Amino acid sequence: MGGGLVRLAAGQALFREGDAPTTAFILERGQVEIRARQRGRELVLAVLGPGAIIGEMAVIDEAPRTATAMALVDCELIALDRAQIAERIASSDPIIRALLQGTLQRYRSALLALQGRGSAPAVAEPDEALGVGKMRLESQLRAALADGGLDVRYQPLLDIPSGRIAGFEALVRWTHPERGPISPEEFIALAEETSLIVPVGEYVFDTACAAAREFIDAAGRPLFVAVNVSARQLRAPGLLERVIARVDAAGLPRGSIKIEITESQAMEPVLMQGFIGLCHDHGMRVALDDFGTGYSHLAQLHRLPFDTLKVDQSFVRSMLSEPRAMAIVEAIVALARAIRATLVVEGVETADELAALRGLGCDYAQGWLVGKPETRDSLLARAASLFA
Ligand code: C2E
Ligand code: MG
Ligand code: MG
Repeated sequence: MGGGLVRLAAGQALFREGDAPTTAFILERGQVEIRARQRGRELVLAVLGPGAIIGEMAVIDEAPRTATAMALVDCELIALDRAQIAERIASSDPIIRALLQGTLQRYRSALLALQGRGSAPAVAEPDEALGVGKMRLESQLRAALADGGLDVRYQPLLDIPSGRIAGFEALVRWTHPERGPISPEEFIALAEETSLIVPVGEYVFDTACAAAREFIDAAGRPLFVAVNVSARQLRAPGLLERVIARVDAAGLPRGSIKIEITESQAMEPVLMQGFIGLCHDHGMRVALDDFGTGYSHLAQLHRLPFDTLKVDQSFVRSMLSEPRAMAIVEAIVALARAIRATLVVEGVETADELAALRGLGCDYAQGWLVGKPETRDSLLARAASLFA
């Protein structure tokens, strides 16, 4: 039976216990009884009506049918072939996949035990391992958030013309109890899959506002702290209001917290435009992070009035060895100037790179040459030389 309509007369079997599964069904019309043998006796497990899915279990785990499906009256069903179901499952969230596998396995074990045939061996599928691993990490991240296992580091940004530190980027860190430090590239992506990114983001804002207050006090002049915000956070209602409340509570000028939105994420231009406008109304600035890497916001840039473009570090990497890369950086400097945005080049590691950027008239440099991400305490300990 492939795709298409299947008709059964009352009393006819759709499939029998022990059959190899090829198809699941949607019952369109009629009634189907699901039966299994229990120590020689037939046991009715369910009576299903229109709209029910039948026989999907064996198709999902490719095991022989553990029950018989019998038409109680004349029935019409639509066949769903295995490839169709397999494709849906393969493209689903690995956590959902793991939950499905686990539930199915337990149901089968219970059914076999009921039938007096022992329980099915638990075989971990690679998919399941991934899903379970992610769920474990997710709940450990949730715990870390509650017990202070997260931490924020600050990486300085150099104002190229003056040679002074203009501000910092706040970068979150997670020290995992067994795995040690885990990169934000890994756990931010995980947190973004659920609403967990929202409290993680709030923790970073809280910590960054407190640090900004101390940096400014230590420097005795204006400085900014840039905080990364992901698309999912922007979609959570009230983000900006909460950020502003924190900035005000810390007694900070609004302009001292900058929001960085990464270009590598798809984002509806209308939502982004609204958000930038709202930030500007409240005196906050917004940067487009990883510029040049992702979904091209270039086509939308005319209506997205970012205050800052942050050029991804891949550009500076090839700038000195490839004339075309240098020409592109030059063009980006001109583009930023034309739209009155300041320009930050990320990933500056050598004095030659910095000299070239200075020659091009770039505003800010960020990278290991200027400083690696450091704790607030270690930065404050050398405030006198840092903020000179
Ligand atoms: P990003 O915002 O583009 O941050 C810059 C990354 O480049 C940081 O990695 C930084 O440590 C690294 N980096 C800076 N200078 C250099 C350099 O000279 N050479 C090299 N090779 N690398 C350099 P990190 O801290 O691992 O952060 C990775 C990404 O994670 C960030 O990219 C940002 O997208 C995300 N992220 C970090 N903290 C947060 C956060 O609090 N919230 C959100 N939503 N995302 C965050
Ligand atoms: Mg950033
Ligand atoms: Mg970046």
